Amino acid sequence: MKPEKILFTVLDGLGDHAYRELDGLTPLEKAYSNGIKRLKENGSQGLMDIISPGVPPSSDVSHLIMFGYDIENEYFGRGPIEALGEGVELREGEIAFRGNLATVRIENNYPIVIDRRAGRISSEQTRELVEYLNDEIECPEGCRVVFKPLSEHRFVMIISGRGLSHEITDTDPHAEGKPILLCQPIDEAKDKKGAERLANIVNEITIQAIEKLSKHELNKKRAGNNLPQANAILVRSAGTMRRMKSFREKWDLKAACVAAGLLYKGVAKAVGMDVYNVEGANGLLNTNIQGKTSKAVELLESYDFVYLHFKGTDVASHSKNPLAKYEFIKRFYESLKIIDDTILNTTTIVITGDHTTPCDRGMHTGEPVPILISSKGLRSDSTKVFSEREAAHGGLGRIRGGDIMPILLDSIERTVEYGTRPSPRRINYMPKELTYLRLDI
Ligand code: ZN
Ligand code: ZN
Repeated sequence: MKPEKILFTVLDGLGDHAYRELDGLTPLEKAYSNGIKRLKENGSQGLMDIISPGVPPSSDVSHLIMFGYDIENEYFGRGPIEALGEGVELREGEIAFRGNLATVRIENNYPIVIDRRAGRISSEQTRELVEYLNDEIECPEGCRVVFKPLSEHRFVMIISGRGLSHEITDTDPHAEGKPILLCQPIDEAKDKKGAERLANIVNEITIQAIEKLSKHELNKKRAGNNLPQANAILVRSAGTMRRMKSFREKWDLKAACVAAGLLYKGVAKAVGMDVYNVEGANGLLNTNIQGKTSKAVELLESYDFVYLHFKGTDVASHSKNPLAKYEFIKRFYESLKIIDDTILNTTTIVITGDHTTPCDRGMHTGEPVPILISSKGLRSDSTKVFSEREAAHGGLGRIRGGDIMPILLDSIERTVEYGTRPSPRRINYMPKELTYLRLDI
């Protein structure tokens, strides 16, 4: 038996530091137990710099790099990816932003943000206000703006028109007590004119929204009830919707995704993976871990590549809780008990993170992430425990995020020698379907 399938597991923000409350161990070290032992014995570990040493990646960029995408040329911003994850349909060329309804106080002509989420205004009220903005806002320069409500204070803003570039800054100051930021073209914009044009449009829309929202009945009522008014919009992460080459076109692998977090579903949708939902999966610490692992294993029957994502590890890290992170990893390891010997022999199983989020810092850092690849198709190493520190001595050595896909294809015997050309396309793997010579006799 040889491996033919790939199970690619990402524990978000997995890499970490050692803590006294975990007996001087990292959450990953402390969690090491029987569930993962068989995979470790069957595999090799190493450290991975997703971009390059010391550069902290965001989750969407990190996943795309690991899936083999060229960020410089194939990534068009986070806005559309999050919108896709939310189930918002976008057309080619539309520019999508993530947005919040917020509360501002005007001081010396500056709108000072006093609540970035307008008191976590309800989804119902957000819907009402966003529909009002759709009726009232006049998009300048012959362009079109549409707001789509999401849960609570959130919405997506979509701008379409000619000669626009998404290479602009956010208006969200990402902090309270500071004024809304002026939208500006970024210094390195390739289309400076288009970026300037879009920045002006965003500033104009933001001003109009403040004027219109403050007049809405609902805000008058909220003020009367001592609730923060939803009297401004904050937007961020502009990106242009572009069709990306699908994961299948890139690697000739039929791929599925099991994830609950919207950003991860969005990444999977953007690269054409089939996305599956699992009951009780919520992208939080109390998610249905067993349900997700079982679903991913079940999908291996009909897919070549299954991407399984857990957000709990990163949630614990951002709330600076190493104990919760350790417990989450431990529960994930317990869920691996359903992997029997047949699956172990026929599947290349990856466990890694998309970046390091140490609990003592509570944010993404540039330290490398540990990666374990369990596969009958690759050498195993002699390290004992899967952990950040042992990974430094592992057989995989130190790799970059973009190295993963070739390693995985190699493990399932799908690589061809460099320079071999079985297909007109420049690829370093053996396509499943080849074009054969036919004799006309
Ligand atoms: Zn992440
Ligand atoms: Zn994070």
